[in-house]
Amino acid sequence: MPTTSQNASGLTLGIDLDGVITDAPDFFSAWTHSWPGKVIIITFRSDRQKAIDDLASRNIKWNELVLVDRFDAKAEIIEEKNVDLYIDDQPEMLINIKSKTHVMLFRNGGNYDFDEKKWMLSEQTGKLVC
Ligand SMILES: [Mg+2]
Repeated sequence: MPTTSQNASGLTLGIDLDGVITDAPDFFSAWTHSWPGKVIIITFRSDRQKAIDDLASRNIKWNELVLVDRFDAKAEIIEEKNVDLYIDDQPEMLINIKSKTHVMLFRNGGNYDFDEKKWMLSEQTGKLVC
C-alpha cells in the first residue's frame, strides 16, 4: 500500500478530463483551486485547444496538460511526472499504474450500472473475490 508522507504542497494531482472533470466540474474546480501542489490533466484526446477550452469553461486550475493516444500512455505519463494521486473513470487506464501512486476510480454511467448497482469491469480490469 502506498503511503503519503510528503507535505501536500509537494504532491502532484493527476486528473482525467472526459467522464471525470466533465461529470463533476464544480467539484474539480474547487479541488484544483485549493490543491497546494501541481495539477496535471491527462486526457485521451487529440485536440489540445479543445481540451484547453473545456478546462477553461469549467474553471479548472492546472499546471500541465498532457494528451495521450493510447491506454498505456497514461500510466507512463503518471510515472514520468511523479503523479502522487490520479483520478480516472476507466479501469483500463489504471491497470499499469505503479503502486506508489494513489488511484481513485471515478464512478459514472460508463463504468457503473446504476440499475443493477454494480461496477462494470472486464476480465482484464476486474476480479470477483467471493
Ligand atoms: Mg475518462
